[in-house]
Amino acid sequence: GERLKGKTAIVTSAAQGIGRSTVIAMRREGAKVYATDIREDLLADLAKDVPGVETFALDVLKPEAIQAAAERAKDVDVLFNCSGFVHHGTILDCDEKSWDFSFDLNTKAHYRMIKAFLPSMLAKGKGTIVNMSSVASSVKGVPNRFVYGATKAAVIGLTKALAADFVGKGIRCNAICPGTVDTPSLNDRMRQQGDYEKARQAFISRQPMGRLAQAEEIAALVVYLASEESAFITGQAFVIDGGWSG
Ligand code: NAD
Repeated sequence: GERLKGKTAIVTSAAQGIGRSTVIAMRREGAKVYATDIREDLLADLAKDVPGVETFALDVLKPEAIQAAAERAKDVDVLFNCSGFVHHGTILDCDEKSWDFSFDLNTKAHYRMIKAFLPSMLAKGKGTIVNMSSVASSVKGVPNRFVYGATKAAVIGLTKALAADFVGKGIRCNAICPGTVDTPSLNDRMRQQGDYEKARQAFISRQPMGRLAQAEEIAALVVYLASEESAFITGQAFVIDGGWSG
């Protein structure tokens, strides 16, 4: 396909899960793609599997590293902020350290990336930003997702404020809110609960469609929001959850 032909994209936390699938989908649609993550081993696999993708290590907790990335990838039109971590538990399980870490990785990382990459988009007069949020946010209160839900709600606020500030400058900014997606970290969380099969069934049983999302299904939404097909859409949060919150 050619839906992203002539565009250059950067994806954070792209070594596995939704980020990885999005890199593959963006390449398929003709974009130049910078795939970044802290897992250099997995990035090497991705570079092998997807011809033409440029990979480099990027820790989104490090402002200097993000500045260096913006100097390296000067020509970015599409920024997909995909980083995020699920802290499991209620407020009673969430100490200050957990609160700060979750906000740093899930929310402040998006702020840092946008701050670094927006100036070159503004100089070109065009750019599309897609921020990873979640259904567990202002969309829906989900048990044991206390700080996670707070960080992801903040992402929606950040997205809408940014969209409002730059709507007249050729910049679009949207958020995506997936339900439960079958990714490596979800499977890790299932294993951590002790009985993997039981945990997997519990996740599936809360899905009205009787199945989890595949990362490719989320990637398709990111490609749409990155492409000109969505040229009239900005400041929105898109739920993609198999009917969970409907
Ligand atoms: P994942 O959790 O399996 O992978 C996360 C990636 O982030 C890994 O490759 C990891 O190396 C990378 N990472 C960790 N710390 C980093 C750092 N400091 N800098 C850069 N990268 C770092 O992937 P996933 O499950 O597809 O989740 C991706 C995003 O989607 C997250 O923001 C998550 O909250 C969100 N999300 C996931 C689901 C789901 O069910 N899987 C649902 C809704 C939203």
